[in-house]
Amino acid sequence: MSKARAKNKKALRPDTTLSPAANPGEEVYLWALPVCCIRALKREVLREAGERRRLELVCGACGRRWRVTSSLDERVLSRFVTHAGPRAGGSYPAA
Ligand SMILES: [Zn+2]
Repeated sequence: MSKARAKNKKALRPDTTLSPAANPGEEVYLWALPVCCIRALKREVLREAGERRRLELVCGACGRRWRVTSSLDERVLSRFVTHAGPRAGGSYPAA
């Protein structure tokens, strides 16, 4: 029972979206990320707070870089700077 609670506490909300730093026009949900990147994000989010918020998530396993575009998860928001996606009216970089 306590185990289930602990697991729940660590679960990330599925409504976080990210975009690859290499392709900011693309936006994917957290659960669509490669498993290694989800792990990297979890590790970052569950780390003790205190550091400055990060601009990007860098996955140590595959080297992909991600920017958080939106999230309703407070832990994600407290660890990462959110980058408004193109749909939010931000400037869309020319390809
Ligand atoms: Zn990865």
